[in-house]
Amino acid sequence: MKLIDLENLNQKRLKALQSSGIHHPSDLLYFFPRRYIDRSNIKPIGYLLMSSEPVTVVGKVIKTDVTGYGAKKRLEVIIQDQTASLKAVYFKGWKYFINQFKPGAVVALYGTAKQYGRYLSMAHPEIEQLAAPEEVDQLDKLIPIYPSNKHFSKAYISNKIIMGWVDQLLSAYSVSDFLPDDLLQKHAFPTRETGLRSIHKPVNRKQIRIALERFKYEELFLFELSMAKIKQERFQRAKGRKMKAGDLTKQFFNNHLPFKLTDGQSSALAEIRNDLAGESQMNRLIQGDVGAGKTIVAIGAMLMAIDSGYQAAMMAPTEILAEQHYFTIKDFLEETGIRFRLLTGGQSTSLRRDILSDIEGGNCQLVIGTHAIFQEKVKFHNLGLVVIDEQHRFGVKQRNEILLKGENPHLLVMSATPIPRSLAMTIYSDLDISIIAGLPAGRKPIKTAVRTDKDRKSVYEFIEKSVQQGDQVYVIFPLIEESEAMDLKDATMGFEKLKQRFPDISIDLLHGRMSSEEKEKIMSRFSNGDTGILVSTTVIEVGVDVPNATIMMIEHAERFGLSQLHQLRGRIGRGSKQSYCILMPGSAISKDGRYRLRKLVETTDGFEIAEADLKLRGPGDFLGTKQSGLPDFRFADIVEDRLLLEQAKNDSWSLIRNDPELTQTEHQPLKKVFEPYFKEKLELFGVG
Ligand code: ADP
Ligand code: MG
Repeated sequence: MKLIDLENLNQKRLKALQSSGIHHPSDLLYFFPRRYIDRSNIKPIGYLLMSSEPVTVVGKVIKTDVTGYGAKKRLEVIIQDQTASLKAVYFKGWKYFINQFKPGAVVALYGTAKQYGRYLSMAHPEIEQLAAPEEVDQLDKLIPIYPSNKHFSKAYISNKIIMGWVDQLLSAYSVSDFLPDDLLQKHAFPTRETGLRSIHKPVNRKQIRIALERFKYEELFLFELSMAKIKQERFQRAKGRKMKAGDLTKQFFNNHLPFKLTDGQSSALAEIRNDLAGESQMNRLIQGDVGAGKTIVAIGAMLMAIDSGYQAAMMAPTEILAEQHYFTIKDFLEETGIRFRLLTGGQSTSLRRDILSDIEGGNCQLVIGTHAIFQEKVKFHNLGLVVIDEQHRFGVKQRNEILLKGENPHLLVMSATPIPRSLAMTIYSDLDISIIAGLPAGRKPIKTAVRTDKDRKSVYEFIEKSVQQGDQVYVIFPLIEESEAMDLKDATMGFEKLKQRFPDISIDLLHGRMSSEEKEKIMSRFSNGDTGILVSTTVIEVGVDVPNATIMMIEHAERFGLSQLHQLRGRIGRGSKQSYCILMPGSAISKDGRYRLRKLVETTDGFEIAEADLKLRGPGDFLGTKQSGLPDFRFADIVEDRLLLEQAKNDSWSLIRNDPELTQTEHQPLKKVFEPYFKEKLELFGVG
């Protein structure tokens, strides 16, 4: 059966379906209702209270009226039930809607009711025609309401038509299952066919819920299966690059390290040592809050690679951060005699040529840089380990491109966006995870406060006093791409004002539009302590480490995301002195904005903040769906359905362990579905 065999389907409607991503009958079957109406959620018009919640009402169409002229033309419809009447108003597309309201017909409307003059009205409610007045009484049946869009309305595809199509498909189109029987049984899931029936023609809400679980599981399972497969293939491919700690590593940790490692750092290093000594390629994620001391762990790993005769590379998301790492490493490793270089996009051609030949010849043992490291021209002599800092800025695809630079080098990725462990284990399930819990001893928790414009004077006095005592201060301005020009002006003006206010303090301005030399100069002035106040946009956000900086004032703090604020704040509180974060919101502040600031004042725990941010923004925005390589799940929500995700992970991984090539008879239907899915996934990830 094909789409075109459906009743009531003309070319125009076929096009509308295709434009909405529906190409096959199965796509239409997977086009799920957005909600359902039944008697239990219908409200009598007379009892409607004004509220911002949308409601469903059912009534008879009394009359329709087109009023106004030109652009103001609109359709007004009066419907009535036993209790009262209500006016529906359509400002757009009235020609379409007028046909939906034949006087005498019974309709269900879904929308938000507002009182305007005499009438309770709804603007642009969704409409569902009910066949006969009796149907209202039979509404204990659930009526599916499908999502609509502009293609649908243009082609006059109503909810009723979709219901008809789905009906036809359910009786004519055979839907076989691909989930293995034992899994269906284990979770007591309905078969695919039964599940689809429950979604489109449910008898009760419980049935819908059970079916929906199955479809959520189905997509999570396919995703986890592909992760398991990627990991398994990598495991088979990459063998025999054993590394171990030698003189350099031992010397460094025994003699040169200026502090004692925290327990978290030691155990992360032990796990890395274990990985590197083993048969297969390391793929490890280090999670640790800002300031937890991830850099030193990375240095340890790189030393082991160099000790074993390999090159190591460390990649950071921004030039500033790459430069910062370069100088940190320089401080730490200068005496060891290791040859290391910085490679960024902003370097001159001749310098670059020199660096590239140094890397290719193998003279350079350690490369620190931005993603410039992984451009085509860069050839390594024998790259054995890649470290990616702040990995949430890079996608899975980039991660895999990097691995192609050497012969399956070991990979260590570091993230300062702590996400709940179980969640991390499932979405980064092709990685092993180490968590560096806690911060180095002796840190005082940062004090955070919200201040407003009227406190500005006292805040400035506080800043002045602190700088006179030798502390350093960040003043942060937002710089959001959409309003970049305005924001830059804000930052520049703020900078000028501060210079006037503090004529005796040396102040610098740092933003992303500057050349890398300029940025580097400003950063190194600040880290040398030559600058008292650094005014900056969010280029400072990740990783920059100046322990003497103890105050951060964030202008328009409400415009930043929660995790971003936490990251910013992590730039201070790095030494033993008490640090202060002062949040200065602008005047118009939303409820969400206020919540973010309050959360930040309440806690400095990165995990707690991440959890709140995740709830606030949803996983797509929080993790950067596109970037993380995480698919846009249609039915599942990786936060709410965490448990299901974990089950899908366990099931798929044990399946791949038992039948890695899906050769067993009972896995053939799965194989047929999985193969094209996996191929697409590999393309997305840039591997294969
Ligand atoms: P992050 O995990 O945010 O990348 P860094 O690696 O930049 O943190 O470390 C933050 C600061 O803490 C640096 O100044 C670093 O030298 C210092 N540090 C790291 N480990 C320790 C430790 N075990 N004891 C004391 N200070 C440490
Ligand atoms: Mg860091």
